[in-house]
Amino acid sequence: VADHYAALGVSRDASADEIKKAYRRLARELHPDATPGDAAAEARFKEVAHAYEVLCDPERRARYDRFGTDEPGGGGDPFGFGDGGGLGDIFNAFFGGAGGGFAGQAQSGPPRGSDLEVVLDLTLEEAVFGTQAPVQVRTAVPCGDCTGSGAAAGTEPATCPQCQGAGQVRRVRQSILGQMVTAGPCDRCNAMGTIVETPCATCRGEGRVVEERTYQLDVPAGIDNGQAVRLSGRGAVGPRRGAPGDLYVHVRVAPHERFERHGHDLVHELHLSFTQAALGAAMKLETLDGEEQLVIDRGTQSGRVLRLRSRGVPKPNGRRGDLLVSVVVDTPTSLSDDEDALLRQLAELRGEEVAPADEGFFAKLKSAFR
Ligand SMILES: [Zn+2]
Ligand SMILES: [Zn+2]
Repeated sequence: VADHYAALGVSRDASADEIKKAYRRLARELHPDATPGDAAAEARFKEVAHAYEVLCDPERRARYDRFGTDEPGGGGDPFGFGDGGGLGDIFNAFFGGAGGGFAGQAQSGPPRGSDLEVVLDLTLEEAVFGTQAPVQVRTAVPCGDCTGSGAAAGTEPATCPQCQGAGQVRRVRQSILGQMVTAGPCDRCNAMGTIVETPCATCRGEGRVVEERTYQLDVPAGIDNGQAVRLSGRGAVGPRRGAPGDLYVHVRVAPHERFERHGHDLVHELHLSFTQAALGAAMKLETLDGEEQLVIDRGTQSGRVLRLRSRGVPKPNGRRGDLLVSVVVDTPTSLSDDEDALLRQLAELRGEEVAPADEGFFAKLKSAFR
């Protein structure tokens, strides 16, 4: 298992916030859209996405810290999504990679097709509530003219004469230890077991052609930036009726103008004037679920956080996070003469010392502190 902390360039005791910031910065830098065709950047991107996926989840991070591994034990969906079955699995990172991860093992028959990856852009609302989205991908599909066999119409692939269709050949050789028998892929048929003597003109014997396909994706509610949904079997098909790979839909959530996601909570920064903060106010707040009435108490300080329960992001257990309204009290930066006079009156009432109205005096005072 790779070092996830090193992948994100953070220390082992980094806070959740530091980890998130490091991930966001790297994800922007390394995103396939920003680095087209750069295989090293793509590999780093996957590594970073996976590292973040583990470290942003307190439970998985703790497991990783203790055991040095992060793979959830056994089957089952570690995120609790996918109850609808079908297109459900959630992955945050891409473990396998392209081109059939099992190529190194002895196998025969047509190889499995590649896994594919696409990026899906979502708004925060779509990510929070889930959505249906079309996903377009350039992929390999069975050739219609030869139904994937690779052989021209009216012909069939022939059994390979070298391996008799096994795809494997055994070689016997003499060594000082006696006879050694080794098995390896048949080089005559590339371990396919069959040979296409008259290739299909459309696919040139490949049994597959490249096409643009659109799949309808059920995006589960609560999905976060950097996570991915796996569409099992929606990757490229292998040559000559080889099994299809998977399609990983990598989710990118656009920043929202009013809400920032923190785990399952949403944070909204609410700016109040100092008079509203001092006197209190009742105001409306547009949440993702519609308008909510917000009561600001008298004497509310900057930094105060109001919590609107269950107005955040859905959790795997069906509950929802909260909407946190973080108060920022704005000091007025330009005052009319009337306002200036009223404030001076207020300061006098409260016995507070303020700068005199004479600006020349104030400028001199300021320069004395330089
Ligand atoms: Zn064909
Ligand atoms: Zn063969």
